[in-house]
Amino acid sequence: MSEIRAGKIEGDHPAGQTTVPTAHRGGGLDGASVRARFPLLQPDGAGARIIYLDSAATAQRPDVVLEAVAKFYRTENANVHRGIYDLSRRATERYEGARAALARFIKAPDKEELVWTRGTTEAINLVAATWGQENLGPGDEILLTTLEHHSNIVPWQLLARRVAARIRYVDIDEEGRLRLEQYDELLSERTRIVALGHVSNALGTINPVAEVIERARQVGARVLVDGAQAAPHLPIDVQSLGCDFYAISGHKMCGPMGIGALWARRELLEEMPPYQGGGEMIETVLPDESTWAPVPHKFEAGTPNVAGAVGMAAAAAFLESLGRDQVRAHELDLVEYGMDRLDRVEGLRLFGPRDPADRIAVFSFSMEGIHPHDVATILDAENIAVRAGHHCTQPLMRRLAVPATTRASCYVYNTREDLDRLVEGLDRARQIFS
Ligand code: PMP
Repeated sequence: MSEIRAGKIEGDHPAGQTTVPTAHRGGGLDGASVRARFPLLQPDGAGARIIYLDSAATAQRPDVVLEAVAKFYRTENANVHRGIYDLSRRATERYEGARAALARFIKAPDKEELVWTRGTTEAINLVAATWGQENLGPGDEILLTTLEHHSNIVPWQLLARRVAARIRYVDIDEEGRLRLEQYDELLSERTRIVALGHVSNALGTINPVAEVIERARQVGARVLVDGAQAAPHLPIDVQSLGCDFYAISGHKMCGPMGIGALWARRELLEEMPPYQGGGEMIETVLPDESTWAPVPHKFEAGTPNVAGAVGMAAAAAFLESLGRDQVRAHELDLVEYGMDRLDRVEGLRLFGPRDPADRIAVFSFSMEGIHPHDVATILDAENIAVRAGHHCTQPLMRRLAVPATTRASCYVYNTREDLDRLVEGLDRARQIFS
């Protein structure tokens, strides 16, 4: 496993540079030199820097993403599609080029299978409201898991209410892993769709999605994968996974907020009715009826978030320049190091799988006798940013029988030193409350 040292920050990299000096002895990344690419994470005038451990909520942005967005507005801004003038043609090229880049990022076979959305939430709502509305009826079942984010629960509840379908949940074991034997029992010909997160935002569990998909296929169910927490951390290949829908968010993977994507098989997109009506998504509009633009534009009503798409493509390029396998190796080192350190904190209960191979570097825990909000407040006083709460997973919190947890979530710019600082902060919280 790679050794991650807290390196010295060596100053900024030239604008537009997409390769970073991240090679690190033993493999993985040098988190400190990756961090040098993130303006917000730099030390202030007094030499203090934020220890940012809330990347599961939103990641920070590297210089190349900030520059790509600024460059678009400075030099390429125009509305896209059907523009006759050169600037609009260039904006369209950038927008469609970003679509192709994101399709490659998740190994989609065809860029036109990638629909831009505001994020994972909108992507799931789109599927539930269009494919779901067309394909589910009374008595049909939607299979979710106890690990799901509210974004992968509530859209299905709205659908279930409209079409009189039923929602069922696959439970987890004591380590927060899916109970696959129970999944088998719940799967039936009534199951029309299985919708699950690839990686849990609350526990960091990496779900065995390929296996889940394979089993769903046997009963003819469709599978939607919520990839919000997977795309930033793991290499993704939607074709080899064999899913039907895959949803991602730009801001979790170093891109802008308010942009994300839904990937779906072309034949499904062709069959699905539009989600929203307006400009861009039509072919012809008559007073009483309209015809739709070809996919993916049929699902992209209104002026799109072009700068967001450009920024998200820059984020994908940034992660590729680090190396997706290197990102995973770096995080695996943080998982092992973090688990070892946190296990030794008195009164701390760490949730999630014990096998580092089954998790990303998200550490959700409770501390005996200290409310998670108090833990987070004490850490905040030391400039350590963690999240405390239900992490938009209330059914999971209920299952764990806790009102909330404290969650420290790492990304490419975090180091072992950050985890040392976290543990020191927790020891201090323990002293204050003892
Ligand atoms: N699913 C998971 C697993 C998430 O972590 C999140 C964001 N916390 C979402 C869905 C929703 O993503 P967004 O807010 O970007 O739409």
